[in-house]
Amino acid sequence: MKHRGIRFGGSGRGNMLAAGIWGLFALACASPGSSPPQPDAGPDYRVSVPSGRDGRVPIWAGRPLTWDKLGLVSDWLQNSGTRADDYWVVEGHLQLAEGRLHYALLEPKLEASRTVAASAGFQRVLAHPRSTSSQRQRAELGLNSLGGVGRGESTPAGGLPGVLARSAWGARRPNTSRMDLARAPWAWITVHHSAEPGAAPLNGSLADTARALRDIQSAHMNGPENMGDIGYHFLIDPSGRVLQGRDLRFRGAHAYRANNIGNVGICLIGNFEHERPTKAAVEAMHGLIDVLRSQLHVPANHIRGHDEWRVTACPGRYLRPHLARYK
Ligand SMILES: [Zn+2]
Repeated sequence: MKHRGIRFGGSGRGNMLAAGIWGLFALACASPGSSPPQPDAGPDYRVSVPSGRDGRVPIWAGRPLTWDKLGLVSDWLQNSGTRADDYWVVEGHLQLAEGRLHYALLEPKLEASRTVAASAGFQRVLAHPRSTSSQRQRAELGLNSLGGVGRGESTPAGGLPGVLARSAWGARRPNTSRMDLARAPWAWITVHHSAEPGAAPLNGSLADTARALRDIQSAHMNGPENMGDIGYHFLIDPSGRVLQGRDLRFRGAHAYRANNIGNVGICLIGNFEHERPTKAAVEAMHGLIDVLRSQLHVPANHIRGHDEWRVTACPGRYLRPHLARYK
């Protein structure tokens, strides 16, 4: 998202001399501004034992999310959990609920019973007298996301299938005084990568993706550009989740000044100068672009990478070829 190198329109690839110079400044797409501490979204790969807590770590604690893990947690809560430290009991209920939420979001039509069980788990965490503030925050985020499933928000604010609502990632309220209404018809779609400096790889859970999006939103809103909200309209994580960013009622802030007019911004999480995008993310991107093209009447060949508006490495050499089909 850094906005050096001024160039409007054009094919964007021609001026390689300039690219060499500006490329030095434009490798990162996201604003590198430091973001404030975020609530711990509790990626379930990591095990941290808060000081003063029982150091006996349950068997499930460091495992990635799978159905087997959820079975283990459930058994543990009924057996060893009755004699365990409160911290791990709350953590067990929380990870079980987060796992059920994760699978409910993947298959929202099938999952009424899972969402009920997940909701009960999050409520239990909130009601527990010894849950930590970080655990309570995760439970609240989980309940917000579940609300989206139940109310159908996970499908279409603007009629777009499969787009997770802002509540699913705990988005901050936008400052609309620093945003422009989208008055022009949508004529372009521009693809970015997030390329957050120092960002850890995502672990596949919705909670971890939510944390990454809140970091990007904070960098955009608190950074030198002082944006009113996250700059992109849609974000896609490596698991292929599509999440609503800035509302389409507002012009984006992702392609430098006037380039943003009538220009939908999509950002894939990752740095695709250095890594390949996942198949799930690429498929989600193509699906989203197809829906946007038909619903917003964007011309078929008006799909661009950020680097076609200005000199930047964004969206990265491994993502760029996946846009060739629109040329
Ligand atoms: Zn970009």
